[in-house]
Amino acid sequence: MAEIRVDHLHKAFSEFVAVRDSSFTVEDGEFLALLGPSGCGKTTTLRMIAGLELPTSGTIHLGGEDVTFRRASERDIAFVFQLFALYPHMNVRKNIAFPLLSQGVPRSEIKRRVEETAKLLQIDHILDKSVSGLAGGDRQRVALGRAIVRRPKCFLMDEPLGTLDAEFRDVMVRELRELHNRIGATTVYVTHDQIEAMAMADKIAVMNHGVIEQFDTPQEIYNRPASMYVADFIGSPPMNFIRFNAGLAKGASSARIGEADVTMPELRADVMPGELALGVRPEHVRFSDASPLRGAIYGSEYLGTTQIVIIKTAGGTVRARLPAEQSYRIGDTVGLVFASERLSLFECGSGSVVPSA
Ligand code: ADP
Ligand code: MG
Repeated sequence: MAEIRVDHLHKAFSEFVAVRDSSFTVEDGEFLALLGPSGCGKTTTLRMIAGLELPTSGTIHLGGEDVTFRRASERDIAFVFQLFALYPHMNVRKNIAFPLLSQGVPRSEIKRRVEETAKLLQIDHILDKSVSGLAGGDRQRVALGRAIVRRPKCFLMDEPLGTLDAEFRDVMVRELRELHNRIGATTVYVTHDQIEAMAMADKIAVMNHGVIEQFDTPQEIYNRPASMYVADFIGSPPMNFIRFNAGLAKGASSARIGEADVTMPELRADVMPGELALGVRPEHVRFSDASPLRGAIYGSEYLGTTQIVIIKTAGGTVRARLPAEQSYRIGDTVGLVFASERLSLFECGSGSVVPSA
């Protein structure tokens, strides 16, 4: 059992709160992505779990044991912050063996474990090569080998693919996830890249200014974002927000936007009047001549199988993901319909989701 549980974790650097009252559980064998922009407290959270930073308050349990005040070396975890830091003067075998050598593991045991690790990563044929001559992908695999050879119960990874170019990143995203499927160690993976998080994680924690705004599966986070912040951070292009005043719509099941009544989740009676926003993903917008919600086509981006069409409406700019072959002209006026069962409703001020009836 190597479940990671943090309760009311809090970290202040003098006046500044980097992590605020954070509580979550990563189940045994689960892959969690901590996702958010630079400065939101991801690394600080990870360093506290690793034992490299002491929390101001709160507790951390690993496999049911309270490790809050235990040293990093006494926690059974591997911290990976950069995948290519290799020892250039050593061969592949020595690079992978290094963490075991420094732990005083017997030589025969080291040989067995290095070979087992190399096989797992499919680099057993290059064990005696020098790392300086290796291609990028193999270098990454060697670095990974060095992280997993100790067989820790948990992996903590801090933007390990940060400096890689896009094409190579895609390859490593797949390999890291496959490796996780094979070894099943509980993993917390820090990234600012929502595509990486969506592709790899079982659960995602979306962070904003030290606070976890939503902790859920990638599907739930995409389909039912808990706030405008989350909705805006996930998906490319992100969710459209169409603002309107709740005073007009209260108790009704449609919102008046320009000349149009748009069906939406029914508002509860206790919702305060004020600015609300309908959230709709680009793939849930369609053109319909009959729709009273009108807009003018402003521009487009061609993406191969689909295209993103940008439309200016009375409620703001809307991006629609349409089939690539659908034709129109810039400047045309079109009617828009939204898939009403896929809409989200947000309170603009607080950014949180309005509960529907
Ligand atoms: P992220 O990894 O999401 O980019 P960090 O956890 O590194 O964010 O940092 C969160 C905030 O805490 C940042 O504003 C950063 O400047 C601040 N911070 C991090 N470490 C320290 C420190 N040792 N002293 C003071 N402020 C810090
Ligand atoms: Mg960081």
